[in-house]
Amino acid sequence: MNKRLEEVWSEIVRMNPGESEFHQATKEVLGSLGPVLEKNPEFARLKMLQRMAEPERQIIFRVPWQDDRGEVHINRGYRVEFNSALGPYKGGLRFHPSVTLGVIKFLGFEQIFKNALTGLPIGGGKGGSNFDPKGKSDDEIMRFCQSFITELYRHLGEHTDVPAGDIGVGGREIGYLFGQYKRITNRWEAGTFTGKGLDWGGALVRTEATGYGAVFFIQEMLHAAGEVVEGKTCLVSGSGNVAVFAIEKLEQLGAKTVACSDSDNVLHDPDGIDLELLKELKVDGRERLSAYVERRPTAKLLPAGSIWSIPCDLALPCATQNELNEQDARTLVKNGCIAVSEGANMPSTAEAVAVFQEAGVLFGPGKAANAGGVATSALEMQQNASRDSWSFEYTEKRLSDIMAGIHDTCLETAEEFGSPRDYVLGANIAGFRRVARAMTAYGLV
Ligand code: GLU
Repeated sequence: MNKRLEEVWSEIVRMNPGESEFHQATKEVLGSLGPVLEKNPEFARLKMLQRMAEPERQIIFRVPWQDDRGEVHINRGYRVEFNSALGPYKGGLRFHPSVTLGVIKFLGFEQIFKNALTGLPIGGGKGGSNFDPKGKSDDEIMRFCQSFITELYRHLGEHTDVPAGDIGVGGREIGYLFGQYKRITNRWEAGTFTGKGLDWGGALVRTEATGYGAVFFIQEMLHAAGEVVEGKTCLVSGSGNVAVFAIEKLEQLGAKTVACSDSDNVLHDPDGIDLELLKELKVDGRERLSAYVERRPTAKLLPAGSIWSIPCDLALPCATQNELNEQDARTLVKNGCIAVSEGANMPSTAEAVAVFQEAGVLFGPGKAANAGGVATSALEMQQNASRDSWSFEYTEKRLSDIMAGIHDTCLETAEEFGSPRDYVLGANIAGFRRVARAMTAYGLV
């Protein structure tokens, strides 16, 4: 990073004390932008970086709710409406005890560039709560969601701000949130939420989209380097929606996934993960991975955090931020891993990314590799706006075309700026440039 960018970043740190994930995400983006500011000095003059690092609006609110025993709980709700240059604020809601303002801001900041890369008309936002859904009954989840949206509804709308899911928020939660929104506003405004159920405005492929997209992205990177997915051994961390459907697409393309994980354990199944069983436990049910081993004793449970020490060709971190550190990256490189595609948001630490890049591992950063989820959300919005619904095949084709487009944009941009195959640089510059051009056109707003 050059001196001028260092100063911009120090100011961001000073303005946002204690928000370490936000500092990390802004540093990563700023680290790529030197060459584009040289080429387009007007972006520096217009203070584009400083403007983009400051959310347009941040909403923080109390979420009171009662558990099944009648005990009162207070959580904190967030919605950071980061940037609407390209479209309505768009991004998921995360319900997890680790959620803080800094986490939501890192996610919202990433979302701006990710959404820009899709080429679709969506701005960037993110929200959530430090509510822990683990062990809560269905009724408790419903009461929490209703309380959450009773406060947030006034800020939402299909042309304003469109939430979706993220960690801890899936189809069930979107149902409760949308149901309460519909009740309060007296409007059947499907385009205000994405990730809806198929009977009530949801889109085919949205559930699969992030995982499938991360695999399409690694497939594109491999093709560009004269390689294929078929026959590869893969590690996919996590066991939520992103991980499960990444494993499914890898299997469809002829690769074998030998491990996935939850917060308690790593599941190692050297014969290849039994997708039917995994889906039964994790998609249809709400089980832990330990239940898998009870049903399939040839598989083993290893300690949490050990997944990256299993030899593989391809690694797809699909769990959460900073789950893959420098040491993990070194181990992956030593074991012959040739490509990494980030299904989660910022799962690799900055040091880990540097190890991959130095070793010449193809590295697809989250804002490019996991953009398939939000891209398919934008396709869901299109279907809602035209009161239409598309077939699985057509929607999946749109998704794979979008992922190929993102890949090519990153590759071409990296080449334009003299860093061939640097997908981090390509993604950051291409995303930034699209938003910066729109913001330039709008004047100082
Ligand atoms: N939470 C997802 C993401 O990180 C999806 C957001 C959306 O569909 O709006 O991109």
